[in-house]
Amino acid sequence: MNLLTLARYPFLPEASGYLRERQITLDALVNSAVFDQARHAGRRRVMDALVDGVIADQTAVTEADALVELLSYAVARIIVSCNPDEHLIQRYALAEAVTVQTRLEAENIDFVIDIAVFLGLDAVRDNATEASVHFADYLKHSSQMRSEEWKLVNQELDSGRISLTKPRLARLLQHAIRERIESELPLPVNDGIIEAFRNSIDLVREEVERRKAKFEKESYGKVSFLRLPPCMKKLMAMMKAGENVPHVGRFALTSFLHTIGMSNDEIVAVFSSSPDFKEQLARYQIDHITGKSSGVEYLPPECATMKTQGVCFDPDFLCKKKWLHHPLNYYRVKGKKREKPEEKKTEAETISSAE
Ligand code: SF4
Repeated sequence: MNLLTLARYPFLPEASGYLRERQITLDALVNSAVFDQARHAGRRRVMDALVDGVIADQTAVTEADALVELLSYAVARIIVSCNPDEHLIQRYALAEAVTVQTRLEAENIDFVIDIAVFLGLDAVRDNATEASVHFADYLKHSSQMRSEEWKLVNQELDSGRISLTKPRLARLLQHAIRERIESELPLPVNDGIIEAFRNSIDLVREEVERRKAKFEKESYGKVSFLRLPPCMKKLMAMMKAGENVPHVGRFALTSFLHTIGMSNDEIVAVFSSSPDFKEQLARYQIDHITGKSSGVEYLPPECATMKTQGVCFDPDFLCKKKWLHHPLNYYRVKGKKREKPEEKKTEAETISSAE
């Protein structure tokens, strides 16, 4: 594989083989002035991931450009590892994966299949434009895709295999790549490395903190139980009363409480009065739904789904507004309403009558 290709797919084992052959050591990459440009490019790579969610394509025309690009991947992983924040790792891995997906869409189908096989998928060529993958791999890498077109029931199964066009295979690989990159991070780093990348680490940390603060401020602010929609109040009340809450209700409540800013420990505490409470199992499920163990933060279902699943309880005047489609929307709107003093009494009354 030539250097230009390796620069585009730096996660391949051939890429590290190339660096080994040229005897480019970690120490040189971290400290040598020769690799100044690569270190800057690595920092740019992490910032691209944080700010834009995708790595900007640097047109590598010469071999020297391609080498900088290839090394920037190694540097970016070091910088992320010096700052092992869950949000940073997930956002970085996703941005790398999204970038690779776009690049794969422009490759020929055989190349895309080779990448799929490298990532552990059972993929073979079907015809000139399509590949097929074993349904188990399909399921594994599409399970988080919500749209109907990805549901297994909507696929044609032929001897346990599913045909995919190149763009669809590339989309599936996005998940596989993200999973792989996430699983490899953080890398072990020593004090010398941390010191050498001090400026980049600080810059990245500032951006991570800025994003977190912005997200919190723009979305839901401080957690307030007074703003909970009737469905979530009811689910919490059922938990407290020791009533059995169906799985879909637990999922909705967990994802809702997580999205409005509750910690996993606080959510475990909410679940602790449930009759069948088992801390280890509850933690496992909560960590999965909130993305701590799965890498995917699930959102609570919208009102239509809550209704079909029988967990839309006691809808009030706000629920009946035409534009209210989601429990999170209720929570957000209630937050805005609370800012108007004349509406406080009405809200307090609504809440006490609901409890
Ligand atoms: S309408 Fe929506 S927000 Fe209101 S109770 Fe039902 S599910 Fe909850």
